[in-house]
Amino acid sequence: MSASHPIIRRQITVVNDWGLHARPCAAIATEAGKHDCDIQITNGKKAASANSVAQLLMLEAHNGTLLTVTARGQRARQAIDAISEIIGGGFGERHLVLKGIGNKCGIALGRARLQAADHSDIPHFTIGKGSIAAEQRRLRNALQAVRRQFEQLSAGGDMPDAEIDEFRHLLLAMLDDALFSKEPLKLIASENANAEWALKLALDPVLAALKNSPEELLQARYSDYSRLMQRIIAQLDRAKVPRRRRRGINHVLISIELGPAEVVEAVRAGYEGLVAADGTRTSHATILSRSLLVPAIVGCGEQIFEQINENDMLIVDSDGGLLHVNPSDEVCQRHRQIAREQEEKRKSATRQSGKVPPSTETRDGHRIQLLANIEVPEEIPNCHKQGVEGIGLFRTESLFLEKDEIPGEEDQYQIYRRVLAEMAPLPVTFRTMDLGYDKSIGKMSATVSAMGLRGIRYCLRNPELFKSQLRALLRAAPAGNMRIMLPMVGTAEEVQATRALIEDGRAELDLQDQPTPQIGVMIEIPATIHLINSLAQTCDFFSVGSNDLVSYLLAIDRRESQLSNQHDPRHPAVISALKDILQRARQTGKPVTLCGEIAGDTGFARLLATLGLASLSMVPDRIMPMRKLLKQTSLKSLEHAVGKACQATDSEQIVEIMSGFDRQ
Ligand code: PEP
Ligand code: MG
Repeated sequence: MSASHPIIRRQITVVNDWGLHARPCAAIATEAGKHDCDIQITNGKKAASANSVAQLLMLEAHNGTLLTVTARGQRARQAIDAISEIIGGGFGERHLVLKGIGNKCGIALGRARLQAADHSDIPHFTIGKGSIAAEQRRLRNALQAVRRQFEQLSAGGDMPDAEIDEFRHLLLAMLDDALFSKEPLKLIASENANAEWALKLALDPVLAALKNSPEELLQARYSDYSRLMQRIIAQLDRAKVPRRRRRGINHVLISIELGPAEVVEAVRAGYEGLVAADGTRTSHATILSRSLLVPAIVGCGEQIFEQINENDMLIVDSDGGLLHVNPSDEVCQRHRQIAREQEEKRKSATRQSGKVPPSTETRDGHRIQLLANIEVPEEIPNCHKQGVEGIGLFRTESLFLEKDEIPGEEDQYQIYRRVLAEMAPLPVTFRTMDLGYDKSIGKMSATVSAMGLRGIRYCLRNPELFKSQLRALLRAAPAGNMRIMLPMVGTAEEVQATRALIEDGRAELDLQDQPTPQIGVMIEIPATIHLINSLAQTCDFFSVGSNDLVSYLLAIDRRESQLSNQHDPRHPAVISALKDILQRARQTGKPVTLCGEIAGDTGFARLLATLGLASLSMVPDRIMPMRKLLKQTSLKSLEHAVGKACQATDSEQIVEIMSGFDRQ
């Protein structure tokens, strides 16, 4: 070949599933033979003549390998075009592989469920004068439900607690903005508009201004506001994330972008993998999904909505950041095998780390048990990572909140068994369904008041429903170390009635040989403080639900945004009640835990420990910093300050005293 002939070079990625195996190599060699050119293909340092099947095989090129094709000869361009076409065409074996940023959390396989953020199909209808108040109530309920979703966002994995707190505050502050909390309510009345449309009317000018702003920072805020609007509209519709599955089919959620709340909800809804058009390596969705151990790929670009159709088969390879669309059965098998091996490794690491959690002792030798509050089984690996000593509160109702109806006994049994097995031998405290008020489900309207038919009251009035949960728990109990806890108890009779249902369940299931799990009572209603002695006759342990207790003591609805500053546990009455509870419970000899938010607060945890509380249950990510803090703390040296806090007459004094704990 004359040296004066042109040399054409081109780079091309191998896209077929199995790379350059024999058949593709033969196809390249056959094509190369048709051209009067010298064609070379290289993979890094390995080079092959395009005419030699053996040399091509030795390139060891796989799916995704970048090859360089070089042709020298008069018709080099035509040769390169032809070779590129057959390699790029995947030799008839090709499936689409999209690239994004993976969260390095393994592999998931499932069918695509598309969730497009579309502002164009917001429902619009006219509200009659007589229905305005009801429509406003519908919007208020949706706002409250979203508020609760944000309040319940808990940190995970590597995310510093301060960061998620900041984030939660940001979301809550946006929600409190008049733009969401007041304007749409006014527009419902003035425009006779339905709630969704009123929201759109209120938000449209702001969204347009943000979107068209020359400031990059303001443009970024556009997606925050539009996502929040979509979330409220979805809540009005009770849709939230698209329903995941027909039973037995795995699903992968495809969305424009994922915020932390969407990640948590998708995980709760049972999605195997998450994909988003937007997002970066450090976006909260990436970090949070990793801590929840769900494979995710973000930053795939908006074209994914053209490239992926509903129900397409997907492989989310979050380690490589590769999203395979409609891969062959062989490719699925190969990835399934890798996913199984990864899962096995994870489980054995979980089992090992679950065996001996570190214990926590203060500097002056007081042992404090640190337990976790969780809502979904997916949080367990993180609990082990944080070294929890057990689950002090498993909010079972959280498993149902995304669904239209409460799952049956069998489905519940499977979940409870899994949680117990993954935590064994550590204890798991299952709180029976705390439905009603802020935790409504399906048709159960969100109108149940804080003082209405909720918690144990609701369960005892729906005995079939309650029994199916108790039966599921009893069946699962042998899988680990189970405790059952009852929410919103107001009387000893309620505990006795529950015990009777448990005994019925044991008899029906023929489980009388099995010990009854320990039964605990939550102290949330102030009246129970005065009933601790009689309640102790009916239960095995107490757990203080300080979130609700504070509400009822102060008569402030925890959902009432206008009073959120006053819903403050640093109130003399709360401190006095907590002291009282601990004293009374100590006299009964029954163990006490506290599982409200204040358990994870550095000031309160030290105050409570000094008052004699030896068990705290908090969001998993508070465990490690709390252990560190308590180990450095001498309760003896706090006694004086805590004594003063118990005498304080206003919140400011209490805040001041607690902030001085660090100096003791
Ligand atoms: C509480 O009230 O403190 C509690 C732990 O229960 P929840 O927050 O789920 O109502
Ligand atoms: Mg409560």
